[in-house]
Amino acid sequence: MAVTSEIPRRMGRVDPTINLFDTFATHGVIHLNGNSLGPARASLVASLRQLVAEDWTPHQVNAWFERGWLELPRTVGDQIGTLVGAAPGQVLVPGETTSTTLFNVLVAALRLRVDRPVLLVEAEAFPTDRYIAASVTRLLGRRLVIRPRRDIDDVLRRGGAEVAAVLAAPVDFRTAERRDIRATTALCHDAGAATVWDLSHAAGVLPTELDAHGVDFAVGCGYKYLGGGPGAPAFVYVAHRLQDVVDFPLTGWHGHATPFEMAPDFVAAAGIDRARTGTPPVLSIAALHHALEPLVAVGIEALHRRAVALGEVFLGCLGELSPSLRQRLASPEDPYGRGAHVALRVDGAQEVERRLADRGVLIDSRADLIRVAFAPLYVKSEGVRHAAGELVDVVREVEEGR
Ligand SMILES: *Cc1c(COP(=O)(O)O)cnc(C)c1O
Repeated sequence: MAVTSEIPRRMGRVDPTINLFDTFATHGVIHLNGNSLGPARASLVASLRQLVAEDWTPHQVNAWFERGWLELPRTVGDQIGTLVGAAPGQVLVPGETTSTTLFNVLVAALRLRVDRPVLLVEAEAFPTDRYIAASVTRLLGRRLVIRPRRDIDDVLRRGGAEVAAVLAAPVDFRTAERRDIRATTALCHDAGAATVWDLSHAAGVLPTELDAHGVDFAVGCGYKYLGGGPGAPAFVYVAHRLQDVVDFPLTGWHGHATPFEMAPDFVAAAGIDRARTGTPPVLSIAALHHALEPLVAVGIEALHRRAVALGEVFLGCLGELSPSLRQRLASPEDPYGRGAHVALRVDGAQEVERRLADRGVLIDSRADLIRVAFAPLYVKSEGVRHAAGELVDVVREVEEGR
């Protein structure tokens, strides 16, 4: 179904000066699944080939020292820092999954408050976050308290004195509902609890202002809106003020103060380097480095504005084409009250996802929801309008049992 009305066109003030669409290898596909895995930049292969040809091949093992490989976890961490509101020296890419990184951070956060029994987690947290939190509390003999998102702030107000740490997300991975990092972090600090934010669905699309809000720890995925590619490594943020006291459980040799002295006992490195674990996966971190360049160049405020505008174009089109489908929005109506995706309740969500993929539109499905994400660099308003038309057709087909 084609959108002919001018209304959605006018509604979307999609910044035309951000015009990087052609620099991505989209392969003629409309990628509305940047919350999961976006396309590569067209220059990725050349960039990796260059690393092999100009760094690895001529320098061999010395490339660790001569070509910046050893610093790469910090170099890329500082790039991410500009997107999440962290001054240099507080973000690191150790080369682990989000799950491993979260384990490392949750144990460290609980070790800061040995006198307190509770780790407080949102019920709606991403499954791996709940699983890791449960394991960590078992390991350390603490108590896992899981509460609905809307009750977290209240628990902190009433029973905060028991809480050692809180794990929360600024964007609900299903509904995209936002949580105010500033308010919850302030409540944690009033209660004396450490804050751990999972930024997986915010990094690269939403300003999070970690320094300004006084956040203690954060983690996030490298392969979602940051675009680092399949299984790209995660990042970790540790506020400057905690870096000399934080005690991570994963005490690998790259986190040692003097890794190349091969000392028998672990002495943690100064600063963010103590969040390192073992030898980092240089090729994967280099791919993430390359993906971050245009995001850093555009800047988080403009990225966010464009994601919001694209989302509004999409919902505007849906409202035109199928008001009944538009009414099944499972995300907040306020574009500033949600992250960069919208969720819609549809019957046969998985089948809708599959049929849209056949039509060259990638979205994703979770149980009875579809999620449609508006990554700002490789999504255009034309693509969004086209996708809205295809979605309306496909939902109609699936619901009519065709
Ligand atoms: C995607 C996601 C993860 C993924 O963890 P991995 O270990 O990288 O697979 C974790 N937490 C949240 C909130 C996520 O959205």
